[in-house]
Amino acid sequence: MNTIFEQAVARLLAMGQLAGVADSVLAGLSRPKAMMYASLPVRMDDGATQYFDAYRCHYSQMLGPSKGGIRFHPGVDDAEMRALGLWMTIKCALVNLPFGGAKGGVVVDPKSLSRMELERLSRAYMRAMADFVGPDLDIPAPDVYTNERIMGWMRDEYEVIKGAKFPAVITGKPVNLGGSEGRFEATGRGAFYCIEFLRVKEGKLPEDLRIAIQGFGNAGYHLARLLAEAGYKVVAVSDSQGGIYCAQGLDVQLVHERKIATNQLHPNYPEGSVSSCENCDSYQSISNEDLLAMEVDILVPAALENAITKHNVEAVRAKWVVEVANGPISLDADQALFERGIVVIPDVLANAGGVIVSYFEWVQNRAGYPWSLLDVQSRLKEKLEAAFEEMWQFQHQKEGVSFRQAAYAKALLHLQEVFKMKGTKE
Ligand code: GLU
Repeated sequence: MNTIFEQAVARLLAMGQLAGVADSVLAGLSRPKAMMYASLPVRMDDGATQYFDAYRCHYSQMLGPSKGGIRFHPGVDDAEMRALGLWMTIKCALVNLPFGGAKGGVVVDPKSLSRMELERLSRAYMRAMADFVGPDLDIPAPDVYTNERIMGWMRDEYEVIKGAKFPAVITGKPVNLGGSEGRFEATGRGAFYCIEFLRVKEGKLPEDLRIAIQGFGNAGYHLARLLAEAGYKVVAVSDSQGGIYCAQGLDVQLVHERKIATNQLHPNYPEGSVSSCENCDSYQSISNEDLLAMEVDILVPAALENAITKHNVEAVRAKWVVEVANGPISLDADQALFERGIVVIPDVLANAGGVIVSYFEWVQNRAGYPWSLLDVQSRLKEKLEAAFEEMWQFQHQKEGVSFRQAAYAKALLHLQEVFKMKGTKE
């Protein structure tokens, strides 16, 4: 089977050829600019040293310093880092940020670490990468199973090494350590705006739309909360341990409280699950596969890559699929959804809220001038609306084009212009 990176490149080439992007530009975008591999020695609480494999991928720096999160997950590998770096490149180009794409990760199950071990691992990562990141070179951020505490430790470690203050070296920090207002919920809020833009275009009312969300981490939870507040019916949510369903709509706050409450033992990673709500009111317990097959208006895969593949795509019954995770729909499944007229809002737009507010954080750090929450939210909305509108127009002007093809076309043509300005032949 092809690796996830090979699949990502195959998608890039197909989308690029369709948009008329030059082969040399696509060749440049089919490989990372540079990769860093490191082995992180970490002193565990019992005194033994364990070694963790770590990666950082500078995928592209064509538009500016590379940008992208750091993932702590047992499934991290070279191909995943490259794929995620490529998607960050497309995402930043699409929403017009002066950033290239990057990704980093550590092969670890962070839930098995104590808080002190987690801090030592985070600091070890930054020590290994200190010459490979920087405010004008490559700027990490949170991703799966990393959070603002970890970003704070990493900023601190970088500054200890460099002997000066560099708040803009990393984004997604705690607000009192140079983070931005609104960054904590930015991915969910961005996805919420995208759903709102589409809803208005389609002339629907929030209360008529039923949603199922796979993944109740930072992005999935905040999206569920904002949708419920706006009157949508969030009927099902799930996490890695299972899910729950309620036809009248779930009480998102209650589900969140249950998940957190069952997680007191580990302050960094809730060990609990939304499925512990199964005996709340009339909530019914469901599996992740059940959730993907639910008859809802909007399905939101907000967990990991390849949630929807050729093996389960036939079961999908939603009208719209909103990709809040990176790469949750495989290449062949994407085609199958398109043929069935299911509208997909692609990851490069639907989850771009996180990196957009990361960009705002970087700007605020460099200016030394923090913005208000309202400023952050209105500028986030403005940026996403511009990108959504461009994608929408492109898609409506061309026959038989998906939103993903439109989004990639926009991003790739923008990158091509910059390639040209820098003096490649085309
Ligand atoms: N990890 C997030 C993403 O995949 C955010 C990256 C960032 O803020 O740089 O888009």
